[in-house]
Amino acid sequence: MGEWDQFSLLQSFFMKEEKIGAFDCQEDKSNIAQIAPVFGIGAVEFEEKPGDSALRSGRRPQVVTYYKEDPDLWAQPVLWERETFAGTMIRFVCRPKKGVLWDDEARYLAQRFIAGFGLIKKSVYLLNGFRYTVTHDRVFDSKNLNYGIFRITELLEQGQIDQYAVFFMNVNSTGEMNSQIGRANGTKVMRLFLQKLEEVLEEPEAVWRVGGDNLGAVVRTDHVDRFLEILQGTHISYGSTEDEQYRISATAGICVGSPEFHKTSEMVDAAQICMNMARYTKHVPYLFYNRQIVQMLENAKHVEMAFPDAIDHEEFKVYYQPKVSLLNNEVIGAEALCRWFRDGEIVPPDRFIPVLEKSRLICDLDLYMLDHVCRDIRNWMDSGGKPVEISTNFSRMHLNNPLLSRQIVETIDRYNVPHELIIVELTETTSSSFAKRMGELVYRLKDEGIRTSVDDFGVGYSSMSMLRDIPFSELKIDRSFLTYTTDTRDRSAVMMKHVISMATELGMSCIAEGVETPDQIRMLKEMDCFRAQGFYFDQPLPREEFEKRVRKRVYEINSRSDSEQMR
Ligand code: C2E
Ligand code: CA
Ligand code: CA
Repeated sequence: MGEWDQFSLLQSFFMKEEKIGAFDCQEDKSNIAQIAPVFGIGAVEFEEKPGDSALRSGRRPQVVTYYKEDPDLWAQPVLWERETFAGTMIRFVCRPKKGVLWDDEARYLAQRFIAGFGLIKKSVYLLNGFRYTVTHDRVFDSKNLNYGIFRITELLEQGQIDQYAVFFMNVNSTGEMNSQIGRANGTKVMRLFLQKLEEVLEEPEAVWRVGGDNLGAVVRTDHVDRFLEILQGTHISYGSTEDEQYRISATAGICVGSPEFHKTSEMVDAAQICMNMARYTKHVPYLFYNRQIVQMLENAKHVEMAFPDAIDHEEFKVYYQPKVSLLNNEVIGAEALCRWFRDGEIVPPDRFIPVLEKSRLICDLDLYMLDHVCRDIRNWMDSGGKPVEISTNFSRMHLNNPLLSRQIVETIDRYNVPHELIIVELTETTSSSFAKRMGELVYRLKDEGIRTSVDDFGVGYSSMSMLRDIPFSELKIDRSFLTYTTDTRDRSAVMMKHVISMATELGMSCIAEGVETPDQIRMLKEMDCFRAQGFYFDQPLPREEFEKRVRKRVYEINSRSDSEQMR
């Protein structure tokens, strides 16, 4: 006799009892995965016996109700989760006790057991409904982050996480997609994309929506490549016509499970960090969490924590890289560049500037640098020297600060330094709101007689409209324009030539940075660019060294092949 038959038998046995009608196991089959009583007529003994899947999942069932009226006659309904959300499974294993006859008392106990079961069944219904709401996303009609968290936790608890990778994904160019095909279609495409990803997965793998255009997944390590392939680009039809297709892709951060991870949040965070890095820093379609990234994060944490102290103790020093006139090889000024003296080591800017930019601490550093530059200029002037112009770098992060121009002026005035000795270097921006704020800043500084320079011109997407709309004083041509060629017919050389003549006509001066060779100097002169900065002359120098260069005034470069001439 099958289990279900036995259950029906029990049901019919109690047919006369009013509580019997309270449950019907057949209809529950979708919600309650399995109900498996094994009954014998006569006497019953209820005994808990964890089902196979519970054993497989390595979890002990959770006891919800416990009946034990008689040591010979007892029932222990158990409730445990199987496959987490596929359904909650209640399993009873009831065995007849040999030699004991079914009597009124046994009947009474069995009835109570069934009544109790009816209650549990109701709570299971509720639980399932509740669980569905908490673990599903209405907009995408998909699983949500809660689901993902439960699923990863389960794999961690079962000790299986090393066979899985956690993904954090962001759909690429969602804004562009929405403006091309409309918001509603955009949502539809994302929903279908998620379904497509789900199709290639097998339980317990899963994919879910985190929120917005962020998705998450847990994927078996041997399925990762196939999953990544879909992420790189997939055509989705969102309508009936051939035109109604969109190629969607996503950037992913991936954290492969390993014994080093004990918490779900650690893995999700790691994957998210990698996604952000892939998207915003490295500009790659995906990035796996690894040791190097761990180090970077540790470095970032260290930098942020050490920063306030480092400012207080003046661990940041100004280095000066000379700017030279190509007309007479005279030192005309310098760019102030930051060096961090930490624990007897000089930390280069690329180890801390990007970290400080993220946390906006960079604004404090830039004003600190300006302050120290002004202090140096004051000293030069007080000791009778002829001061030269100094450029200081100001991060884009400052553009959110409407008080910046006032803070710059106050700092310069604190040391009574002539405004024309300071040049504020700003990197170009593609964002129109940033460009607007940059324009306002440049106008305000210009009113104060403080010059501005477009740093790294030619890197990324130089915007001609920015040059047209904002009255910068100087264009600083990035060394990438110089690196590849000294052939004036080369495309980047042709561009550079025209950029220089355009800037000059717009009333800006031009300076080339990263100049390393005599050929580059020759080319610059041919293009009418007569100011340069780079290793050809000098690296960024400690203040005392730079002061020597200023005193010497001119670089002797006729016979030189390196920058040792002035030393
Ligand atoms: P940057 O403003 O473009 O500065 C020029 C960088 O190019 C400097 O690197 C300089 O040492 C390097 N350089 C100069 N000449 C040559 C050359 O001939 N060949 C090559 N290969 N490189 C050359 P550094 O000092 O490591 O600074 C890196 C970046 O860090 C700077 O790029 C700037 O973006 C940032 N930075 C440095 N100090 C500050 C600061 O005080 N505030 C802010 N916001 N950023 C800073
Ligand atoms: Ca600069
Ligand atoms: Ca630069």
